[in-house]
Parts: sequence; structure tokens; C-alpha cells
Amino acid sequence: MAMTTPQPLTAMPQAAMPKTASQLDARLELPENVMISRLDELANWCRKNSLWPMPFATACCGIELMATGAAKHDLARFGAEVFRFSPRQCDLMIVAGRVVMKMLPVLQRIWLQMSEPKWCISMGACASTGGVFDTYAVVQGIDRFIPVDMYVPGCPPRPEQLIQAIIDLQDKIQVEGTITGREFDTAARQLRKRALTESGDPLTLDASRNPVVQRQLAAERNATTAATR
Ligand code: SF4
Repeated sequence: MAMTTPQPLTAMPQAAMPKTASQLDARLELPENVMISRLDELANWCRKNSLWPMPFATACCGIELMATGAAKHDLARFGAEVFRFSPRQCDLMIVAGRVVMKMLPVLQRIWLQMSEPKWCISMGACASTGGVFDTYAVVQGIDRFIPVDMYVPGCPPRPEQLIQAIIDLQDKIQVEGTITGREFDTAARQLRKRALTESGDPLTLDASRNPVVQRQLAAERNATTAATR
């Protein structure tokens, strides 16, 4: 079959520019089994299909979490079945059940020990809002203290709901992810957590992964230093 000479991309009119990776491959007439992609997309594809969950199951929702990983629902179909109890090996925190104030430092410590990039699913009404436990002893939503990417409603949610949340999270990782983690450096994600702001002591904030918060704290410190001179 006669080979045509590939046309330089810079010489193409805008309308003729390839829109997808497969169109680009066809345009460049790449050999079989060779494809072109962006490094971000490749990293996202790897990350989304190899999520390692860290189960933080404190109550009845934890039973549904276990069922999700068991044979019937088979979370392995989505590449997310490798539950680990070592936070340094995990990149997906699943909080299933109510979290009491005494347990909160443990949750935060485990979250901090997980390596970047990492994501969090809040499973069930209790983890997301405190559920029916509207008391001072129960955290009224874990997103007051750690960033949450997906909320799963229900009391308890069914395994299918958790699987849907994982699929949605995979879509989010594929669309928004970057190899440098720029997607985490957004004001919306890094806003000071509400309860910590209400506490009136911003220095207790976990600023380790919050460049926005770090900048705010540095500005406040500089302003205080300038005012006391
Ligand atoms: S949301 Fe319902 S099922 Fe889940 S931990 Fe709370 S009370 Fe239990």
C-alpha cells in the first residue's frame, strides 16, 4: 500500500486539526501499537485504575464497605480492591461511619500520612453530616477537617452507591488530574476548613498540603510582624 507523506501539524488549517488522540495517531500515520498522548492523561489513566483505598470504617457503613470489596460486588472490577491498612500505601481514604471528636486526630493523622496525590470519599450520612447524631461529641461532617472529593448519601449507602462514587472519582481524576497535582492547588479545595476557622486559632490548621492556606498564614504573620515593629 502506498504511504502518504504526513502533513506537518503546524501547516494544517484549524478545522483540519485532529481533535482526539486516535485522530492524531491516524494523521501522523503512526506504526501499529504506537500512540501519542499527554503525560497528564497517561498518569491520570494509571492513577484512576489503581486506587488503593484506606478504609476508615467506624460504624455500620463499614459493613457495606466490606460488602463492596467482597465477591458479590467485586470492587476489583474497578481496580480499587487493594485495601491497605498502612496509610503510606494508600491514596483513597474512604470514611464510612460516624467520627467522634476523640477519633478526629486519628483520622487527620492517617490522612496526613497518606501520600500524594490522594482523594477522599465520605460514605454515608454520618461521615458527611453527622447523620442523626446531632451532638457535640460527633463530628458534623468530616469535610470540616479534611478535604472530601465525593459524598455518598444514604444510611447506609448500598455497595452500588459506593461503586458509583468510585467511578465518578475515576472520571474526575481522568479529567482534572495533572502529573504535578495542580488540581489540588485551588482555592475551593484549600479553603480553611469551617470548624477550624471557627476555632479562632488558625495555627492549628493542617497547612501541609494547603499552599493557599500557607500563603494566607504567611501574609498574616508578615502583617502582624509589621504592625508590632
Ligand atoms: S449513616 Fe447510618 S448506617 Fe452509616 S454509620 Fe451512620 S447510622 Fe450507621
